Amino acid sequence: MSEKTKISRRQFVTAAMSAAAASSLPARRGFAEVASGKAGPQTTAVTLTDAPGWKDQGVENLAKSPHAKLREVPVRAVTITGGFWAQRREINVTKSIPTMHDLLEANGRMNNFRRLVGKSTAAQSGPVFSDSDVYKWTEAVGFALQSGDRPELRASAEKLINEVVAVQEPSGYLNTYYQDDRKSLRMLPQTQTTGHELYNLGHMLQGAIAYYRATGDRKLLDAGIRFVDDFLIPNYGPAPKKPIVSGHPEIEMGLIELYRITGDKRQLDLASYILRGDERIELPERRTIYMFSGTPFTARTKLQGHAVRAMYACCGATDYYMETGDAAYLQTLNTLWNDMTTAKMYVTGGVGSRSDGEAFGDAYELPNFRAYGESCAAIGNMMWNWRMLAVTGDAKFTDVIERALYNGINSGMSLDGTLYCYRNPLAFDPSTGDKIRNPWYDVTCCPPNLERTFGSLPGYFYSTSADGIYAHLYDNSELNWHLENGAGLKVAQKTSYPWDGNVDITVTPAEPSEFTFYVRIPGWADHAQVTVNKQAQASANPGQYLPIRRRWSPGDVIQLRVEVVPQVIAANPRVADDSGRVAIQRGPLIYCLEEIDQPSGVSLSDVAVNPGRRPAEQFQTEFKNDLLGGMVVLHHTGVAYDRGASEKVLYSRYGRESTSRKVPLTFIPYYAWANRQATSMQVWNLLLQA
Ligand SMILES: [Zn+2]
Repeated sequence: MSEKTKISRRQFVTAAMSAAAASSLPARRGFAEVASGKAGPQTTAVTLTDAPGWKDQGVENLAKSPHAKLREVPVRAVTITGGFWAQRREINVTKSIPTMHDLLEANGRMNNFRRLVGKSTAAQSGPVFSDSDVYKWTEAVGFALQSGDRPELRASAEKLINEVVAVQEPSGYLNTYYQDDRKSLRMLPQTQTTGHELYNLGHMLQGAIAYYRATGDRKLLDAGIRFVDDFLIPNYGPAPKKPIVSGHPEIEMGLIELYRITGDKRQLDLASYILRGDERIELPERRTIYMFSGTPFTARTKLQGHAVRAMYACCGATDYYMETGDAAYLQTLNTLWNDMTTAKMYVTGGVGSRSDGEAFGDAYELPNFRAYGESCAAIGNMMWNWRMLAVTGDAKFTDVIERALYNGINSGMSLDGTLYCYRNPLAFDPSTGDKIRNPWYDVTCCPPNLERTFGSLPGYFYSTSADGIYAHLYDNSELNWHLENGAGLKVAQKTSYPWDGNVDITVTPAEPSEFTFYVRIPGWADHAQVTVNKQAQASANPGQYLPIRRRWSPGDVIQLRVEVVPQVIAANPRVADDSGRVAIQRGPLIYCLEEIDQPSGVSLSDVAVNPGRRPAEQFQTEFKNDLLGGMVVLHHTGVAYDRGASEKVLYSRYGRESTSRKVPLTFIPYYAWANRQATSMQVWNLLLQA
């Protein structure tokens, strides 16, 4: 960034007004016209690299990232036209996002901003990170608007953004908790470790960027750039600047995404410095473990500490790798990924097993009733794997994305879109008094996080590469985009996925041309067949992308046929809580038993499943249109143990404890649990011993 971007407050106001004026014009390719002086006499707003323009940027903008193998497709280029995710996304945009706006308002989150400009007399409300909830909501709106304008949502967001930027100080600082009466605490090392200032800023940048990519409006983005360029970079970083530490990772991702659109390497360098840790801020080891920051990222060898912090740190580190190619980062990321997927991830894709510290447990410590599995952590897991996928093009990362998305993330929002899980346990007993789905949490990180994730979902369906295009996720959808050589390409999917495994993909290049279409074969599949115009393709291996290189003509049809049958899943024997138990999976969906679906008098703690030698045949599938939005349920004849007198004793002689009887059991997908009357639930069920 050149000197000319360091501008006075007065100049900035002029520039911001110019930018706002320009943003109300029919939007074209970014804001080069503002920066080049067409919008007014004093146009010193930071020039964005404008490559590609805001309309063409994906969930992340990897267009110039030298070490990303895959490039993103903009959210707006993919229309989900019907089916599994269309339903969820419609509710997200018509109910969840609007009601969350009202809840943020009702719980004082916007008055925190108004208070600082004399428009509210309410006291500061909510935890130190309350501003981030407002920003995540803005990000959710930003993604939602990328799938089509919603004037009411846009108006709400514009009003909110105006109220946010109104409190920005001339220095660039903006944080409602540390302005006014707590100003003296601002950015002290202690505040940085616990006060979430940089976390809030990271979310501000992400929200601002998503909104910019939706509308071209860079008002919030410019405020974020000022915070970074005028306040943070001149004052914090390597000596002689003041020390900096990421108390809750998030700023790393925000800074690097900002760098991707400004081209200002100082922003990347600051992220790099934060990822290395600042030795001048001495912290006890337990604190740097908990924060997953403050010491060099590349020295880490296992996932531990606060799960969301760890996932966001891994996201930032992967972003950093994509920009720099620093091999030590990739090595660490692979080590951590192996640690997670071999010993620390729930079958739902949730992570973070301990309530205490919202933390990763030890290897194989995956309790079910006590599972924490914060919605934000599952989202962080998906975001990290999305980045690893971009680095490598390896389908093992897509398998984790799909596992987390359909299960541990999808469970986080009620089917009516108004109740949210903070914890996502894998077993539940209502007699504990726990209420898992709630409309609001004072720590309300998860609800808007879920909303932004569902809003951004179309952006996760495809990527491009130098030689073609990758299909990652399956649902009824239409892609209207282009290959990296600029040749136009449309792709349409027709499917009932995940209820069955038939996906018809119609490929329509603008002109017949040769490129590779990478078809993802889900890792859970036993068998898969792929045809092109009914001609079988060899080697469709589960857990891989099948590369189909040919000259594609408009109307060519790829058919993916994957057998979707119930599968009985065992955990590693070292997972004590799953010992002698199995989970049921069908396609990407993990299933559970809810007591409400079982014959009366049957207690889940007394039932066992009986998979026999051909497990798939022991479970009958039924599509129930009228149940919980429509779903495939599984019927199974299991057994119920009659504990008799032994119910009242803690220990008894093996073999004498019970008799058993057959009982019809009904499984539903895990994501749909607790959408009716609260009853017991469990994912891991006792296995009938032969
Ligand atoms: Zn959360």
